[in-house]
Parts: sequence; structure tokens; C-alpha cells
Amino acid sequence: MQYYQPLLLTPGPTPVPNSIMSAIQLPMVGHRSKDFEDIADEAFKGLKPIFGTKNEVLILTSSGTSVLEASMLNIVNPDDHIVIIVSGAFGNRFKQIAETYYKNVHVYDVTWGEAVDVNDFIKFLKQLNHRVTAVFSQFCETSTGVLHPVHELGHALKNYDNSLYFVVDGVSCIGAVEVDLIKDKIDVLVSGSQKAIMLPPGVAFVAYSDRAKDRFAEVTTPRFYLDLNKYLSSQEQNSTPFTPNVALFRGVNAYVELVKHEGLNHVIKRHYSIRNALRTALKSLDLELLVKDDSYASPTVTSFVPKDKEELTYLKDQLKSRFNITIAGGQGHLKGHILRIGHMGKVSPFDILSVVSAIEILLTESRNKNYIGKGIAQFMEVIKHES
Ligand SMILES: *Cc1c(COP(=O)(O)O)cnc(C)c1O
Repeated sequence: MQYYQPLLLTPGPTPVPNSIMSAIQLPMVGHRSKDFEDIADEAFKGLKPIFGTKNEVLILTSSGTSVLEASMLNIVNPDDHIVIIVSGAFGNRFKQIAETYYKNVHVYDVTWGEAVDVNDFIKFLKQLNHRVTAVFSQFCETSTGVLHPVHELGHALKNYDNSLYFVVDGVSCIGAVEVDLIKDKIDVLVSGSQKAIMLPPGVAFVAYSDRAKDRFAEVTTPRFYLDLNKYLSSQEQNSTPFTPNVALFRGVNAYVELVKHEGLNHVIKRHYSIRNALRTALKSLDLELLVKDDSYASPTVTSFVPKDKEELTYLKDQLKSRFNITIAGGQGHLKGHILRIGHMGKVSPFDILSVVSAIEILLTESRNKNYIGKGIAQFMEVIKHES
């Protein structure tokens, strides 16, 4: 008998709270009805504090990648020069989207596992000798577990050239970090449903500055489903241009209620406490962290480096088969080198305590050294101070 409850600790999808599941399962309503307009109005408005914006948040029925693509197609004209910061697999995705549509794409590479060096990046912009229209970056690079200094980057970019558009992929951290479009100087901030927003996969979000909204209307790049102008004009009628995922719109409203109940500040604080405790615990189990600098470690996903490939496979497979815990492997060149524990959305410190204790048992067996209690004691010391 598998008596361990399943524990899904991948960096998306994440466990879905019961109140969200109940909302999603309510009887269907027509999407061209007053019923849906009320649901949509609540959802567009309810997301504003989560995205740190005074504008209503757009909701598309599609996965996170669709809004990465939309953020580009609605900001960048065919002949514009743009810069993509690539610090992992999702930076690469931005690059692939860019190269599908545009010819003037400049890539600024960051070592995977490190955060962008803001001063060095500005130097890079200066030596390009082209007027750059927009800069694209991840907020959290999910494939490594780095949280980039988006606030500093936004300010440095706008100091360098105030006409630049700053586009941020927040798919794996929005809902778990502090953000403010105006203070952080972000023009477009996108996210998806199945990460820190703890909904099932299926909808994606776009928050935008006033300037970005004007830009959407001017840009000539061809697009249809991803034309954000369509979503903006529908939004004025509390509607969507195409059939929306009605169930997940209700899910959004249930999510917003949960955040209101806990308090957004506490939600954020909880994620950081778990990050701090988990990093401390993994180090005490002689596991190397991929992100060395604590200040750039994401509050939503933590990557660590097992001793070798054999240990990596053993940990990942045994966590699943014996303890019913799912964690993620690496992506791109980090595949077979790192493991990633997602800790976003519906996670409590004690959920993460389970994975730490399971790892203790597995390492004790495989390394022939006693790790029992080592990680969890360190973990609880941190939680004790921060809870
Ligand atoms: C998951 C993720 C995406 C892609 O989202 P999909 O829903 O899989 O299309 C994009 N960017 C980041 C940072 C992500 O973590």
C-alpha cells in the first residue's frame, strides 16, 4: 500500500488547494453571460495586488509560454533591435521565440546559476551601437532557481534609456515575491497559473504599464490569438475575445480569496522562510547548492547538486517510489547534474520538512554515513526564528 500522500514538489504544476478545486468544479456558465462577466470582473481586478499594478490584469486561456510570446509580439516591431537575457532554459525560450519572429536579436548570456550583473549588462547595452527597443528577462529562472535583481535592473535600464521597454517573465515567482510595476520600472510582467499562483495549468496573465498599453496599439507585428489589444477591449466589457477557461477564472477568484485571507505579505514571507530553511538543511546534508549567493536564491525553487549521476537518479527515483514525493531534474545542460525542489503556492514548512527527512534516509543508506535528524534540525532552527 502506498500510504504516503502524494507530494508534488515540482516547479510547476503545484498542489492545488481544496477551495480552488471546489470553485473550479462549480456548474458551467455560458461565457457570454452576466454570470461570467461578474466572474471575469472579479478576476481581472483581484490579481492587481499580486502583480503590483493599478491596471486590470489580462487573462489568456493558454500556457505560460503564450504570454512570453505575446509580450514580445505586442511590444516589438519587425525591424526593432531587442536584447534577451539568457540565464537558463526559460531565457532560451524567450530567445527561441525572438528568433522565430525577429532578425535583430541580441543575447546577453549569464552563467546558469548566477544572477545578471546589472552594471555589466548596461556596459553590454552601450557597446551594441543599436537603439534597443526592449529588454527581456526572467524574474525567477526556474531551471536554475535564481531570482534576478529585477528592481535594480529596471532602474539601471531606465537610467540608461528611458524609452526602453522592460519585459519580465514572472511565471515561476509571481504570487511569492514583492513586485510593483511602477517602482520596479517594469512595462510588461507575465505569469502562468500552475506555479506560485497554485491553480491547475491553463491560463496565463499579462500585467502592463500605461506606456506598454499604448505601445500594444502601435506595434505592427502580425498576431491574432495573441493580439493583446483584443483582450484589452474585451476587458472593458468584463469579457474575453475567445472562449475562456471559465473554470480557471473562478479558480483565480478563489486564489485571490486565499491570498487575502493569509495576507500577501505573509505569503511572501512564508516562501522566503521555506527557502532559507531548505538551503540550510541541504547544506547540512553535504549537498551543494547550485545558486551560491543567498541573496539571489529564489523563494520558489531550490536546485542542488548530488554527488554524482548515480546519486541523483537514486534520490529522484526513490523519493517517488518510496515516499510518493515528486521533485524535478535539471533542464538543458544541467540535466543529469542537478535536482530541483519546487516550494511555491500551497506549501507549508512541514511539507518541505518531509522531503528533507526522506533525503536524510536515502543519503544515510547510499553514503554509508548517518544523516538522520541533521537536515530537519537545521530546517526547524530556521523556521523557529521565522515563523
Ligand atoms: C514554467 C515557465 C514557463 C512556461 O510556462 P508553460 O506554462 O509551461 O508554457 C515560462 N517561464 C518560466 C520562468 C517558467 O517557469
